[in-house]
Amino acid sequence: MEVFFYYAILIVLISNFIFERWLDYLNTTNWSSELPPELLGIYDKDKYQKSQKYEKASHRFTLVTETLGFIAILLIFATGGFGWLDGIIRSRVSNPIHVALAFFAILGLVTEIVSLPFKWYDTFVIEEKFGFNKTTRRVFLIDQIKGLIIGAIIGGIILYLIVWIYLIAGNLFWIYSLLVIAIFSVFMLLFYSSLIVPFFNKQTPLADGDLKDTIRAFSNKAGFLLDNVYVIDGSKRSTKANAYFTGLGRRKRIVLYDTLINDLDKEEIVAVLAHEIGHYKKHHVISGLFFSLMTTGLMLYIFSLMSSYPAFAQVLGSNVPSFHLALISFGILYSPLSLLFGLSLHCLSRRNEFQADRFAAENYKGEYLASALKKLSINNLSNLTPHPAYVFFHYSHPTLLQRLKKLAEIQ
Ligand SMILES: [Zn+2]
Repeated sequence: MEVFFYYAILIVLISNFIFERWLDYLNTTNWSSELPPELLGIYDKDKYQKSQKYEKASHRFTLVTETLGFIAILLIFATGGFGWLDGIIRSRVSNPIHVALAFFAILGLVTEIVSLPFKWYDTFVIEEKFGFNKTTRRVFLIDQIKGLIIGAIIGGIILYLIVWIYLIAGNLFWIYSLLVIAIFSVFMLLFYSSLIVPFFNKQTPLADGDLKDTIRAFSNKAGFLLDNVYVIDGSKRSTKANAYFTGLGRRKRIVLYDTLINDLDKEEIVAVLAHEIGHYKKHHVISGLFFSLMTTGLMLYIFSLMSSYPAFAQVLGSNVPSFHLALISFGILYSPLSLLFGLSLHCLSRRNEFQADRFAAENYKGEYLASALKKLSINNLSNLTPHPAYVFFHYSHPTLLQRLKKLAEIQ
């Protein structure tokens, strides 16, 4: 059994890596120095060339980091590194919950430290070179520390509860832990904007003026309270612009980046807002939550059936079965299935984006949304011609050209 698991894990790790690199490679075959005709006249040649260079730089960066990550995990796995770490912790700590917490804390901290220079390079070399970066070194370092502390607190609490349930609930482990995850997900949807975001960004109500009046007129008509529209200081870190809808019930909110407000005209901003209201009207947050809880439930159920196999720990170099080692072995073996679920979630999300676009076109004006999407794509140097296979597996949003085409059909 152990030998079977050993090769199964190796095969999954290697084929995942090859598959992802193959998708990346397909994307490079779609690079084109020709501007798509839909954008002629609005995308100048120099800027388009810059977007191609940005695409290439990002591709190289991903190739290097993913390859190093792959080699690292392969080495740790082949040398029994996970079992070794487990043994060291066990020689000092006896409570199984504390062993699991220490195990993931050390893994998390090491991953964080090792990935720090790469995040630094991405922010201060690549993003800087293409004019996106606004993050100061101070903000960058404080972000990392805050992220680490918040992640440790939230992750620690969830992990503590789940390992505790694992140790006492037997066959019903998957139901109780799914319940914990569901309650936590709803809690995060309700309070993420008011509890977590303020550690990193300022969110303010729209300033009085022409824009606010125009937005009020539209949001009244669409039945969305203006009090739930916020502006966030995204410009503190990057020139890239965005907007999103989050939350549930009375705690729903639409968040517009200050960069978006600077980049777009008034009508275009209202069109983006209309798209976000579309997400709310079509209940996309709830359907997304429901779908991800279904897939998490299935994963927990299969995990609860298999996690007691001693081979899950043995294959990682330990003779003591445990929740955390089983989670690592299982996580790797399960990854082809989670790829499949991720893919379905992306399909659902792309369908939702089309629905929100349609809502904006029917309730406001499609041509303003189209021009907003074009401007955002150009300013963010988005890849205009990703390979369809790459889009199918990895894109949560349809491509710009797909969205423009659908918007034109609605008109
Ligand atoms: Zn959207």
